[in-house]
Amino acid sequence: MAKLNVTNLKKSYGSLEVLKSIDLQVQEGEVVCLIGPSGSGKSTLLRCLNMLEEVTSGEVVVNAQKLTDKNTDINKVRENIGMVFQHFNLFPNLNVLGNITLAPVELKKASKEQAKEKALQLLDRVGLKDKASENPAKLSGGQKQRVAIARALAMNPDIMLFDEPTSALDPEMVGEVLNVIKQLAQEGMTMVIVTHEMGFAREVADRVIFMDGGYIVEEGTPQEIFGNPQNERTQDFLNKVL
Ligand code: ADP
Ligand code: MG
Repeated sequence: MAKLNVTNLKKSYGSLEVLKSIDLQVQEGEVVCLIGPSGSGKSTLLRCLNMLEEVTSGEVVVNAQKLTDKNTDINKVRENIGMVFQHFNLFPNLNVLGNITLAPVELKKASKEQAKEKALQLLDRVGLKDKASENPAKLSGGQKQRVAIARALAMNPDIMLFDEPTSALDPEMVGEVLNVIKQLAQEGMTMVIVTHEMGFAREVADRVIFMDGGYIVEEGTPQEIFGNPQNERTQDFLNKVL
């Protein structure tokens, strides 16, 4: 059973059909990188995977639970799906520790002590143990994004979704964030990562998916997609970005 199973997913905004018919399976422990031009529907697809967007039709099944079923408790399923955004979206009124402990305490009914202990472990893992009581505004972009990753991990997610986690960062900070994601990949985390970092995708992905115009145009191993793309649109895109 796939960890994530998307069948014939369609999403429109009014008359604009953004996702045209997406089928996608992600296996446990698999790292899938989504690439494609701006406006091709990558963010919309990612947001449909945890129902941040209401889907127009089709099915999204996570851990055998059908998110697109009206009777499913979406909030419950969502607790096991970590999401990291381009612009970090940290809570500005909470310090780093508060950002990481809020959801476990409020949603998973962890004790404050347990949540704090876990948060400190996670901060250590992302190299920010000394920033626990810092205000997010005082952090660099790379540090903010590492806090955002730690915050998502604090819920013990089964799957992590990343939407261009490094595209708002100054170039010198990209590596520190990608390294954290690489480490998660090595630890066997199931991940779907939208990225413009082709070198990273080549290195970390088990499978690369190229999207264009609301369709999955081509998918394969990094060797296949970067070394020998079959579709003309994939070739054009890679010629522009590589
Ligand atoms: P990508 O992430 O690949 O750049 P998006 O999923 O953000 O693409 O957007 C795909 C298309 O959907 C674009 O044409 C975009 O303008 C449109 N779109 C995205 N979000 C909305 C929205 N909330 N309302 C209307 N149109 C949207
Ligand atoms: Mg996007």
